[in-house]
Amino acid sequence: MTTVVNIQGQIVPPAEAAVSVFDRGFLYGDSVYEVVRTYRQEPFELERHLARLDRSAARLGLGLPWDGRRTREEILRTLAASQGEDPPEEGTAPWNAGQRSLRVIMTRGCGELELDPASARDPLAIVMASPLRAPKQVSYREGVACRIVGVRHGAKGDADTTAKTGAHLSNVLATREARLLGAHEAFLLDREGLVTEGASSNVFLVRGGRILTPPLAVGILEGVTRGIVIELAREAGIEVGEGSLRVEDLTAADEIFITSTAREVLPVTTLDGRVVRSGQVGEVTTRLHALFRARADGASRAR
Ligand code: PLP
Repeated sequence: MTTVVNIQGQIVPPAEAAVSVFDRGFLYGDSVYEVVRTYRQEPFELERHLARLDRSAARLGLGLPWDGRRTREEILRTLAASQGEDPPEEGTAPWNAGQRSLRVIMTRGCGELELDPASARDPLAIVMASPLRAPKQVSYREGVACRIVGVRHGAKGDADTTAKTGAHLSNVLATREARLLGAHEAFLLDREGLVTEGASSNVFLVRGGRILTPPLAVGILEGVTRGIVIELAREAGIEVGEGSLRVEDLTAADEIFITSTAREVLPVTTLDGRVVRSGQVGEVTTRLHALFRARADGASRAR
């Protein structure tokens, strides 16, 4: 399956999927977006993603072109148009095989060539369905390497790090820095040296059986997966703390893991080239991933 694109409600072949060079999303990153994934071809936690899209748009004062009902319908229509066989990929985790990533992008539209959005009209709505790109199964068995990068959180003109916007340059440069160093994900610090989040994930550590993660107040994205993992941990009687974390907390951690829509709960076994504790995937991370897997499987079976 190739990517299927829906622009303003019209499903078009990817080669014909184009937007105006005057669109403010293109010019200034003046847009919001969401990435939803499927399990068994059903969108997972769609309502939480749509609620976050609304919150992101509200933070930018961007009037969304579609209401929630229309967005939901267009997502499902685009997903349906994307069904078809995918060639098997070696090492894919079984729950990811043949699944889709659904990206919703809403821009402020076109206007005068000026920063002031007052002249913007015709906000643009796009939905893209593409094969899910998720970590291979080996990454869950062995963990991945992460890097604390030099790029500071929100430093490169990102509009608002608590909103999911198209102005994402710090995250782009952080990912570039991490990948050049052979790491899977970049961890960003803020100007005070506090740990914030991954370039496209939330960060957790385990200390003495308790999980710790930076608070939303540090200016991070409220990850849908982060929220679910916190709920699952509390239900399972695992203590959760949201508090300021520094690099020393990461280096002294028993376990580290990251969360995101595509990754679920992904163990981190190397940080800045040094193994985390034993270098093995930790017990708490394994338990939380199993709980997450059960939740995701249950959600798709319940339909
Ligand atoms: N933090 C950032 C900066 C992200 O871009 C993402 C997702 O891409 C996340 C965290 C994880 O959010 P979610 O669990 O909703 O995918």
